[in-house]
Amino acid sequence: MWIDAPTIRTENDFIPLIRPKPGKSAVVVLNGPPLRLFCHYFRRRTWPCVGAGCPLCDRRASKRLYSYYPVLSLRGNPAVLELTPVSDQSLARQIAEYSDEPVGVVKVTRPTGRNNLPCEVSWREKRDTDPKPNGEIERTFLVRTLCRLWKLPCPDGDPGSADWVLELRQSLIFALDEMESNA
Ligand SMILES: [Zn+2]
Repeated sequence: MWIDAPTIRTENDFIPLIRPKPGKSAVVVLNGPPLRLFCHYFRRRTWPCVGAGCPLCDRRASKRLYSYYPVLSLRGNPAVLELTPVSDQSLARQIAEYSDEPVGVVKVTRPTGRNNLPCEVSWREKRDTDPKPNGEIERTFLVRTLCRLWKLPCPDGDPGSADWVLELRQSLIFALDEMESNA
């Protein structure tokens, strides 16, 4: 089962992050609430901002807010959809009338042009989605995928809790030190 994805990482591991290229679209099933967090781009890598005492904030690395949604491809494969705030707000407006757990299909299209233009998002409700979202599994998958993107070990415990963030911060400091000592 996909929730038992191997924890051993190789360079060729596929990270199921959905971030369409200019002129391209992706259609996915929204599968749970997003995780919204600031990320840094530093030395050609994405890193999470770990808040107070963040070593990348100390280095004045650029920082952007992202929303990461757990989604399923139309074939049912789990993935993570990355949206910038403009796109996320557009999605939020479209699903605002469905105040309870929204289940639906999202089409995300990156306009042609520069690589970082915000995606256009269109959403429609779809109640007959199968399998049904399971908050805890989706959140674990989401966080593990993000940690693989960041090339950091995924801490155990409740994602976003103080202990979890502290452990992530330690891993980040270690990875950064290692990278800079090899530079
Ligand atoms: Zn930071």
